Amino acid sequence: MRTTRGLVAGCALASALLTLVGADTAVAQSNKDESRRTTMADVQTLVDRNVEFAKSFNQGDLALLPRLSILVLTCLDARVDPAHLFGLELGDAVVMRNIGGRVTDEVIEQIAILRGLAVVAGGTGFEVAIVHHTDCGASRFANAQVRQRMGEVAGTGEAAIKRLAIADPQISVAEDLDRLRAAPTLPDELVVAGYVYDVTDGHVREVIAPASLRKGDGS
Ligand SMILES: [Zn+2]
Repeated sequence: MRTTRGLVAGCALASALLTLVGADTAVAQSNKDESRRTTMADVQTLVDRNVEFAKSFNQGDLALLPRLSILVLTCLDARVDPAHLFGLELGDAVVMRNIGGRVTDEVIEQIAILRGLAVVAGGTGFEVAIVHHTDCGASRFANAQVRQRMGEVAGTGEAAIKRLAIADPQISVAEDLDRLRAAPTLPDELVVAGYVYDVTDGHVREVIAPASLRKGDGS
């Protein structure tokens, strides 16, 4: 039940990548029809599961601010659900997910706003954990041919996809922490950390230890 968002997004990503493998028009149309049929059935599965979830629901008094002052940014891949990786329960942590778990201008703005909300609501803000993973769909974007084809299919052009490419998750995590450091809306004292999740063994491994975003003035 905690995986629903990841399932829906993951199916869409898997479908998009399958199309890229190069099926001819007839097969692509067949996939499209199959996708449409399956998606409708899967939505009903979600609705049915929610009915079961609500039967025993007893957490209607959860606070706005999470129990852990943590914001997890990770990929929307269905295999990389933080609720499972980190044993998160309802109300434990804030989770943001996008393709690759990349730091974009929009993500930076949302982190700044969320931190503002937390502080205004009486909290101290969030620590930010960036979690990329092995075998990420965004690793396919490192291939120029795939990128070009995807840009055409998605209608976004190649450049938007290139910005999300992950050749090596250890490097992309470091790049994204640098993007946070360069963001003027994020304070020096914001604690950030970087990790890579291995989809083959279940381990989340530290790439960059938790530390303040920037050193203070004069230090
Ligand atoms: Zn991914």
